[in-house]
Amino acid sequence: MYRHSIAVIGTGYVGLTAGACLASLGHRVVCADLDPVKVEQLSRGHVRILEDGLPELVREGIDTGLLSFVEGAAAAVRDAETVFVCVGTPMTPGGELDMTAVDAVADEVRDLLPRDSVLVTKSTVPVGTAARLTARLGRPDVSVVSNPEFLREGTSVRDFLNPDRVVVGSDDREAAEQVAALYAGLDAPMMITDAASAELIKYAANCFLAIKLSYVNVIAELCERVGADVGQVATAMGKDHRIGSAFLRPGPGWGGSCLPKDTRAMLKVAAAAGVDFELLNAAIDVNLRQRDRITAKIADVCGTATDRPLDGVRLGVLGLTFKAGTDDLRDSPAVAVVEELVGLGAELVAYDPALSDRPATTIPGVTVVDDPYLVAKGAAGLVLFTEWPEFRTLDWETLAVLLDRPVVVDTRNHLDPRELRRAGIAWHGVGVPSSPAALAPVRSGIRH
Ligand code: NAD
Repeated sequence: MYRHSIAVIGTGYVGLTAGACLASLGHRVVCADLDPVKVEQLSRGHVRILEDGLPELVREGIDTGLLSFVEGAAAAVRDAETVFVCVGTPMTPGGELDMTAVDAVADEVRDLLPRDSVLVTKSTVPVGTAARLTARLGRPDVSVVSNPEFLREGTSVRDFLNPDRVVVGSDDREAAEQVAALYAGLDAPMMITDAASAELIKYAANCFLAIKLSYVNVIAELCERVGADVGQVATAMGKDHRIGSAFLRPGPGWGGSCLPKDTRAMLKVAAAAGVDFELLNAAIDVNLRQRDRITAKIADVCGTATDRPLDGVRLGVLGLTFKAGTDDLRDSPAVAVVEELVGLGAELVAYDPALSDRPATTIPGVTVVDDPYLVAKGAAGLVLFTEWPEFRTLDWETLAVLLDRPVVVDTRNHLDPRELRRAGIAWHGVGVPSSPAALAPVRSGIRH
């Protein structure tokens, strides 16, 4: 017997996780996707995305009979008391939020939603969407509820089942309580709000995280200029409980499928409301500058002393995904910098553990291989973009021999500089004095 009948529309990172987790809480869940191949694979328990624990949970749901997959939203909603919309809300090339998929779902299910059912937006949508969808549906018996999702890729199952808070917002309190009750099995603070507040909470949280990352990236830049070490500065800052240590590590710039589009969307929301959000604009500018700074650092460390320092220079790349633990390349800062490097004439060979079973991944001008040691062969340096734990345990002695020039640009400060130094490799991090004596290579014959 099940507790509640749910439809989940969209089986991406959010929809599939939500569907499998809600089934694990005892609800009957029918998940729908447009992609027939995905639906067929998921029906057999085959999960294509990399998410810790998700394949097991999907198979468990199928085995208990609580989780099933169908093609198209129409086939999923007929018996649903609650319908979660989890389709993508990407950014158009012009920087606009693309709500086409959400609107298409609303149009598709309008006449099929059971009487008195609830439509829930779990996709990240701008303020006013609940009101807009209510009007679009034209179904006075159906309430629209906002239930933004805060899970992180790579740890989506753990985040969904152990959230810091669950936010459910609607101008129909009874509908919000019905959705809140679906999470009764979780030990998490529940916040029931009005619709606009719930929609704004998601953007406010993500924009704050983006601003925090841009802040630490500027601090890293400052550290390089004044001879300070951002590791020490950020660690001490993070110990202040008012600040916290999360999102306080410098890197190649923030990216991924959420922060870039959510910050842009928030700027539009603010502008439409007549609010000057210059602070957020500055964080976006800093982020673009950070990518340029990383490109310049790579050219400086690995390039030739010519007008076109990277022209024809072979570089090895470690990591392409926007963070460790995921196979998602959407808006990855690594890909953005890699594209800049290709534009500057560099020849790139890349390895990423999440992509090792699909080395044909296409980034124009980049050869993706399935072995980290292959990227080093004959390269004028290695660039680490993603903080995969396994990069820490690479055999640096072997890499030093394979590299044409034993230098590493570590855009995440992820490696142990002393270990690289012992192997004869010069380490260049972010936000540390540019070439401190302690980090200089012990082998002779290299530039830095
Ligand atoms: P995704 O691109 O991985 O998945 C979207 C899925 O929806 C795809 O499988 C697609 O085929 C399917 N789809 C599109 N239109 C459909 C339709 N009409 N009917 C059925 N299926 C349809 O997206 P995602 O990363 O899961 O993100 C979904 C939403 O959740 C976005 O709004 C995103 O901003 C938000 N979000 C994402 C994350 C994250 O870490 N990925 C975290 C929190 C919130």
